[in-house]
Order: sequence, then structure tokens, then C-alpha cells
Amino acid sequence: MGVGVLALQGDVREHLVVLRALGAEPRLVRTAADLAACTALVLPGGESTTMARLIEAFQLEPPLRAAIAAGLACLSTCAGTILLARTIEDGLPGQLALGVLDIAVRRNAFGPQRESFEAELAVPAVGSEPVPVAFIRAPTIEAVGPGVEVLATHLGKPAAIRQGRHLALTFHPEITGDSRLHALFLRGLGPTPEGGG
Ligand code: GLN
Repeated sequence: MGVGVLALQGDVREHLVVLRALGAEPRLVRTAADLAACTALVLPGGESTTMARLIEAFQLEPPLRAAIAAGLACLSTCAGTILLARTIEDGLPGQLALGVLDIAVRRNAFGPQRESFEAELAVPAVGSEPVPVAFIRAPTIEAVGPGVEVLATHLGKPAAIRQGRHLALTFHPEITGDSRLHALFLRGLGPTPEGGG
């Protein structure tokens, strides 16, 4: 099993730390060749419009779409979730939405006056202790399709969702150092084949 972290922009390092602490050996993904070695991909937080431009500059969109269609599992936080959404509200005109997740997101939904805050979220799928997380210029999930399971909500809106093997978050658990959502994602990938990846 090869777990990659899309390393074009954003909080790549924080995800690497959490994944390594869980025993994974994450690799940085910047090219189609990097991607070809991965069965799972973490899309970090950062700035979705910048990441979208870099995906274009690195010619990663076609290989990304092909890999996901072939079964690449994605864990996304914040801007990563925006990239994977079906619909982006308050995006730039024509902003890349890969349409992997059947969700509509609203960028910067908490507005400039409340750009960032921490919260404790109940996520029953990872245990009874709340998960400390950071919302940083976070999007909200405004609509979810029928195949989407809501794992956590914040102020009445989905904040963590699962669709098949994909797990998408509007917040950052990697910044507050809680690894349980990453562990849930890795468990969902199934048993590691010997010498696989
Ligand atoms: N507001 C950012 C965007 O639109 C997301 C912020 C984040 O990833 N923490 O991409």
C-alpha cells in the first residue's frame, strides 16, 4: 500500500507527521509518476485556488482523475475537500472541482471576521472522546448526495463525510495532533498486501 500526500502547496508536513506516527511511509506526490505508486492519497489543506493552478501546471488533473477512477482512495482536509467536491460555491470562476465527492461546498464560509477557530467535534466513528480540530478559513458542506455518510457535524452542517473509501473533512485534525481520523482512513484501505504499494 502506498500512501501519498499531494505536495503542491498547503500543510503537507503536518499530514506526513501524523501518517508516520501511524506507521505509514507516506511519499510526496507532485507528478503522475509519484501518483502511480499510490493506492491512497491525502489532499492537504491550504488554498484550493492555488492548488488547482498547480495541478494544472504540473499536468496532474488527467492522472489524478484516472487514478481515482481506478480506485485511489482520498483523505482530504479543507482545501483538499474543496478540490474533490462536485460543486464549489464562492469559488473562482471555473475553479477546478474534481467531482469525486457528491457534495457541494462553500469556500470561506465563516467569512473573514472569523477566519479560524478550534473546536471539539463528536465523531462517533472514531470513538467517544471528542476530536480537537482547527477550522482555518474553512468551507462548509452545503449539500450531500445519497451515497455520502456524515460522520460529524459542526453548527448543523456536515464537517466530516465518508463516501466509499474516501474521507473528507472541512477542518484540520492534523494540526491539533489527533490521528484518529487518519487511522480510520488507513483502516478503510484494508489489509496491506505483502510488498504491496
Ligand atoms: N479557504 C481555503 C480555500 O478556499 C481553504 C483553507 C484551508 O484549507 N485551511 O482553499
